[in-house]
Amino acid sequence: MRLTTNRWTNICLLLMSCFTAELVAKEYLVDSKQAYKKIASNLVAGDKVVLKNGTWTDFEILLVGQGTQQAPITLTAQTKGKVILSGQSNLRLAGQYLIASGLVFKNGHTPSSAVIEFRRNKNDFAYHSRVTEVVIDNYNNPDKQESDYWVALYGQHNRFDHNHLVGKRNKGVTVAVRLNSENSQQNYHIIDHNYFGYRPTFGSNGGETLRIGTSHYSLTDSFTLVENNYFEQTNGEVEIISVKSGKNTLRGNVFYEAQGTLTMRHGNGNIIEENVFFGNGVEHTGGIRVINKDQIIRNNYLEGLTGYRFGSGFTVMNGVPNSPINRYHQVENTVIENNTFVNVQHIQLAAGSDAERSAVPISSVMKNNLFINENNQQPFTTFDDVSGIKFSGNVANTKVLPELSYGVEQKALPLKRTDNGLLYPTGGSKNVGAKPGLKVLSKADTGVSWYEKSPALVAFDAGVTHAVNASADALLAAIADANSGDVLELADGQYDIPKLVKIDKTVTIRAQNKGQATLTYERSALFEIHDGGSLKLDGLVISGQSSPDSAGNSVVRTQKWGMVENYRLLVTNSDLIDLNVNHSFHFFVTGKGAFADEITLLNNHFSNVSGDILRLNSEIEDLGIYNAEYVTLEGNTFENIEGAVAKIYRGGTDESTFGPHLLMTDNTLKNVGAGKRNKSGASIFLHGVQVTNIQQNVMRNSAAIKIEHTVGEPKTAVVSNTFKATPNPEVKELRVSGPHTALIKDNKQDNSAGR
Ligand code: CA
Repeated sequence: MRLTTNRWTNICLLLMSCFTAELVAKEYLVDSKQAYKKIASNLVAGDKVVLKNGTWTDFEILLVGQGTQQAPITLTAQTKGKVILSGQSNLRLAGQYLIASGLVFKNGHTPSSAVIEFRRNKNDFAYHSRVTEVVIDNYNNPDKQESDYWVALYGQHNRFDHNHLVGKRNKGVTVAVRLNSENSQQNYHIIDHNYFGYRPTFGSNGGETLRIGTSHYSLTDSFTLVENNYFEQTNGEVEIISVKSGKNTLRGNVFYEAQGTLTMRHGNGNIIEENVFFGNGVEHTGGIRVINKDQIIRNNYLEGLTGYRFGSGFTVMNGVPNSPINRYHQVENTVIENNTFVNVQHIQLAAGSDAERSAVPISSVMKNNLFINENNQQPFTTFDDVSGIKFSGNVANTKVLPELSYGVEQKALPLKRTDNGLLYPTGGSKNVGAKPGLKVLSKADTGVSWYEKSPALVAFDAGVTHAVNASADALLAAIADANSGDVLELADGQYDIPKLVKIDKTVTIRAQNKGQATLTYERSALFEIHDGGSLKLDGLVISGQSSPDSAGNSVVRTQKWGMVENYRLLVTNSDLIDLNVNHSFHFFVTGKGAFADEITLLNNHFSNVSGDILRLNSEIEDLGIYNAEYVTLEGNTFENIEGAVAKIYRGGTDESTFGPHLLMTDNTLKNVGAGKRNKSGASIFLHGVQVTNIQQNVMRNSAAIKIEHTVGEPKTAVVSNTFKATPNPEVKELRVSGPHTALIKDNKQDNSAGR
């Protein structure tokens, strides 16, 4: 064959253009925003932009250009991890074959709707582009309810890999795959080897870690691959991952002590395989929740999961007949096979069955799964007809529900942990449970090597103990100098504190000798918890006698508004007295939108208080933004309290949160709740609390416990208490008709003794 002149010319031109590209491609070391701006609009294939090491403030990086597969346009750090983007910085990519790497976002928040966006604007997206080895660390909008994404994927064929994302605290999904235009659908994105670190409980809807699609486009296919990512304590809300589109694959991911579930919320034909869930018995750890049709769930391994209801280790939902796109489509043609469930407390089928969600699962199979519960409790609950899920070849160590036993063989199966860290039966039962040798992703193989995957929280008392002399100045200086985790041990004596004490670290203030250090104060509060703060008080006497003679004092409060970090408050072995210089003197008052991981009162004595002990009811909008996840009261005495011991309010109608929880045991209440300003007329007032356990308390001459059930299926128990001259508890169902669902039993009503 003879080449024509014409073809030769074409080949030469091609060679020349390659050669030219090589020549033109440049490496830029950029040391200022101005310098970046100069080159940014003219980047060509093969160009490499290197940002100088240091802290860059308010740097909105726009990486645009047309790279090629062989010669991408790259943006990186002079040294990976040494380029810090702070203040109001962000990164946008638009074009083809762009790669960004090595950056750290911290000490600030994005001014736009995402920290990293695979688009320039509504019309101009990134394709075949990659963000790798980037860190986003606590880069939160200071207004917790202001929503943003940390990462928003648009366009097609993009990759987000080996990134480290930790500490998302404000509203909004950590990583969102957006399908809201045709150029972002059938996207074939790959999200792999990322480290998703601690995401604290958000305290309302909007705390998902990964979402693929939205209900509006959920019948569209996404073809996103989510592979080999590590989710550690991603506790934001009930959905860790919310799949809301079709044809995605989620494979080989590890969920470690993560509260919530991988939820197939909308969209069909997704594959969930070879994922590993380790709950380690932590409360509300969940697994997989199935909705919609043609889903495949196979070869997953789930161990030590305690979650229930929509947060169960495994859930198959009921659907809504002819469901609107944003409700629940019926489960149909779903295959659930070869999964291992070890010590998974709850497997719930036809869950959510109610007047609206009445479409039971159909044409589905559950086969060759292994169920082992070392406590010998069978894990299944059915809420409706589950004959549409055909059981076969499954094995369990317990008897299961009679309606399922045709397809679940009961067998004693000793387990052994194999080299991959997973439990397998030692004898027989081949082809049951997750496949042998399932690869378990290691945390070290995710994120970046140069940024520490540090623990989520500093524990109380984890640091150094400092002795403090008996003076206000010494205490204030010690608090200012303390490191997080330190203990300040107060000498015997009187401390008259003239200033509001701001707490912005984890600190313990402890009496050297219980009851021998007395604190009084002259401002409207003694302690104010700020972002980063957690407070433990131990063995102190705190008196309100020197407080201002005006209404509304408190001992502890949070910042009044605008707190973004969760906090902890623990008070133990202390006397809180004479909080009554004027009316409405409360022990603790939450700021608007502030959120406690825990508030614990243990073995304290409260007396003569003109307000409430715990005011956790700042919500007025009914959006479901509550103030504390766990409130624990144990072994306390509350005497002559005009307000309530606790007011906890969780409004809203969504079902995205586990809390609030109230655990109240072995307390004594005398003369609580009768003050004329206590509008609730209750000694304990709970609205929308999800878990309540009030046990073995003695209440005398006190107002009733009042409980209002709203959304979810609240679990309430008021058991084995003694009520003397105190009315019985009142429980109201505000959203469902019929009798209340609380367990009220074994309480002793003794009206003979008034005191
Ligand atoms: Ca949600």
